[in-house]
Amino acid sequence: MSREPILQGNQAKDDDRDLRPQRMTEMVGQREVFERIEIAVDASRKREEPLGHILFDGPPGLGKTTFATCIPHDLGVGLQIASGAALAAPKDLVPYLTNAEEGSVLFIDEIHRLPKTVEEFLYPAMEDFRIDLVLGEGVNARTLCMNLKPFTLIGATTRTGLLSAPLRDRFQMREHLDFYSVDELSKIVERSADKLGVQIDADAASEIARRSRGTPRLANNRLRWVRDFVTSRADGCISSELTCEALQMQGIDQAGLDLQDRKYLETICRVFHGGPVGAEAIAHTMNVPPDTLIDEVEPFLLRSELVVRTPRGRKLTEAGFDHLGVVPPPENPQAEEAERPLFE
Ligand code: ADP
Repeated sequence: MSREPILQGNQAKDDDRDLRPQRMTEMVGQREVFERIEIAVDASRKREEPLGHILFDGPPGLGKTTFATCIPHDLGVGLQIASGAALAAPKDLVPYLTNAEEGSVLFIDEIHRLPKTVEEFLYPAMEDFRIDLVLGEGVNARTLCMNLKPFTLIGATTRTGLLSAPLRDRFQMREHLDFYSVDELSKIVERSADKLGVQIDADAASEIARRSRGTPRLANNRLRWVRDFVTSRADGCISSELTCEALQMQGIDQAGLDLQDRKYLETICRVFHGGPVGAEAIAHTMNVPPDTLIDEVEPFLLRSELVVRTPRGRKLTEAGFDHLGVVPPPENPQAEEAERPLFE
């Protein structure tokens, strides 16, 4: 039996929907995660039991939502989508839990943003498929224990560190999504171009892939922009020359850094003399929320070794100075010990 997942709840993020794979077999990369999930899905189908709860973590745009939407599709069960930020109180979560059909999937995006009260309300729902509702107030208050149909919770977070240990431990599987290789991204770009009905040559696809910071969402966004550019300025077929021209116009450089990434590097270099400096200070100077820097800008710059995290804050590396075309200031040997990189 296979039917379309029932999509409910928060779908705000779905500009991506037209390019999003519908089945796990259409997904590119993340092979180890794919194989583990495939085994769990297969076993759940064979045993006719609900899949265990799964937590995905990793930077934005790497496929957490895609996995969460493909899994119910592959299982042929319903899907409800909620966002941690929108579930302010236990009562906001109740309709999702009571509407969950047997074996269906409830996906909570940004699960680290759930308030503590909602998190605690989830524990018995995840473990024993029951919730304790409080009816009335004050001395007349009564608790009502309500049984739920066994369901699967899929959580996604960009910050596992912010999840409480009891919540983390209630997920049977925890999967970390990593950045994609250029080859994997090229394949995603070629498939997306096909879905968008636009012709692209292999060099252009790998040019977009190289400049997409290992992230499928960025690769798709860049492809959409290049497609607009060639539709407006050329004959509509995407070549690597037109790709370079289009991306340069958006301020995306050869390494895939955009204006915000370079502003981040320039702020550390110019205002804080190369660092070390705290993320909050950089965020305030750039006038952006610290969360945006930590979740969206820093992971790629750290991974590219343009910046390092030290106990005293962020610091530009030689490669970071090099990228800006600036000569690094001489090292202060006394500061070196305190600034040894932190590996997390
Ligand atoms: P996240 O939830 O981690 O922020 P998404 O799952 O929303 O990221 O992915 C963003 C977009 O990137 C999707 O719409 C999809 O088009 C594309 N994408 C992500 N992962 C893959 C993948 N493994 N294969 C193909 N496309 C992908």
